Amino acid sequence: MMHYVSTRGVTEPVTSAGAIRLGIAPDGGLFIPEVFTRIDPEIIRKMLSFSYQELATAILGLYLTDYREEDLRKMTASAYEVPGKFANPAVTPVVGYGDGQYLLELWHGPTCAFKDIALQILPYLMTRANTLSGSNAETVILVATSGDTGKAALEGFRDVPGTKIIVFFPEEGVSVIQRSQMVTQIGANTFVAAVYGNFDDAQNGVKQIFTDPVLKENLATRGMVFSSANSINWGRLAPQIVYYFFGYLELCRQGNLEFGATLNIAVPTGNFGNILAAYIAKQMGLPLGKLICASNSNNVLTDFIQTGEYDRNRQFYTTISPSMDILISSNLERLLFDLADRNPELVRNWMSELKTTGRYRVTGGVAERVREEFYSGFADERETMAEIKRLFGATGIVLDPHTAVGTVVTRRYREESGDNTPVLVAATASPFKFNASVLEAIQGPAAVVGKTEFELLVELEALTGQKIPKGLQGLDQMEVRHKTVCRKEEMAETTQGFLKIK
Ligand SMILES: *Cc1c(COP(=O)(O)O)cnc(C)c1O
Repeated sequence: MMHYVSTRGVTEPVTSAGAIRLGIAPDGGLFIPEVFTRIDPEIIRKMLSFSYQELATAILGLYLTDYREEDLRKMTASAYEVPGKFANPAVTPVVGYGDGQYLLELWHGPTCAFKDIALQILPYLMTRANTLSGSNAETVILVATSGDTGKAALEGFRDVPGTKIIVFFPEEGVSVIQRSQMVTQIGANTFVAAVYGNFDDAQNGVKQIFTDPVLKENLATRGMVFSSANSINWGRLAPQIVYYFFGYLELCRQGNLEFGATLNIAVPTGNFGNILAAYIAKQMGLPLGKLICASNSNNVLTDFIQTGEYDRNRQFYTTISPSMDILISSNLERLLFDLADRNPELVRNWMSELKTTGRYRVTGGVAERVREEFYSGFADERETMAEIKRLFGATGIVLDPHTAVGTVVTRRYREESGDNTPVLVAATASPFKFNASVLEAIQGPAAVVGKTEFELLVELEALTGQKIPKGLQGLDQMEVRHKTVCRKEEMAETTQGFLKIK
């Protein structure tokens, strides 16, 4: 039986169901498996014949040891159903763009961003975790979102028995498409509210609701319990390990990589969840080389990886890759714990310095180990726009701005290091989701002024010859089902209203 320890070392180890049910450890740390399971190369080779769903069952089974294999098989079959949930038969197809560089397309799910891959299966993992823990409480998922997470969570949890989902998004700060995706959400158990303010206001409001003892008690007496679907939950991280195995095996199946050869990985990074999953896959024995961490102008991770000092005291930029506009990358804590020989005392000290001063410097050889495993770089807005135009001109492939950050930094790594090992870049969103930036990059600013994002969807379709993804079609025709707007001070009250507990 696999146990999960807290990176802060105070909470007692829990089972996988316990880790998923709790989300964050009571001592403030993050749950991490007591070991990363090594897989024998010959067993990995056998996985060459696995479908995505079979691979997911096998990998998740190594970590979710209190779930029955039979149940995991049903969950992966439903979550990764093609074409019901994912539009591409491979689920996460691999596409080359020249010189041994490949895209791992993670955006073929219902909401067109990579978060679907974890959030399509999380509801199953969570409701099962409750029953495994002997609880029959109804789970109320609370989410504050800057855009992609909210819609992906709504789609994942809609009409899942035993759950309700409430999403708060900032009135100022999500794109027209992202807003439309959320306010037209169907499902009897879904609730959405706009908050006057920015993402931090929404996020702080949700944190306050989580820690409000009166509200918690109020819920408990009605058989409900709050839970979180954000990326510090192990139930979101584990499903992300799967696609690195899939990408590697797919390259072998395509004849583009010899089984056993090294593959580099590049990931456009925000909260450090996606790239951490690649690190875990490497620890499990997948032959991965350098892990390339790509940031936008919010380059706190670039500096940390280069210097060993994490310093969030810097200007915050609003960029064209908004899902990476983050100054505190929560999942980094798991990496530090592992690289510090799993010494929770060191992690506790660093995290408490981060809280009080906004910065910390890692010690004990950790900075050197980080640099051995990772390369880091960032792309500013101008470079990102130029990259979208360049790659479209050269190959006809259209990148979204997040993915373009990844390919810029990948090229820089290759130039600086001379390491031309094949590389797989995580493509994290469909270009249609960020159509205004993409069209402006390719055709210039005049091509987009005065046009709505819905008109631009059609233009991007005409320009690229690719179909508008199903999840983005007809959004402007759909009924607006969620009209609540509240002030940040009213979020708790709004929540109680949604749950009819006032
Ligand atoms: C969330 C997101 C990211 C960042 O992923 P992390 O796991 O937070 O590092 C990158 N690109 C897109 C499109 C996203 O939605």
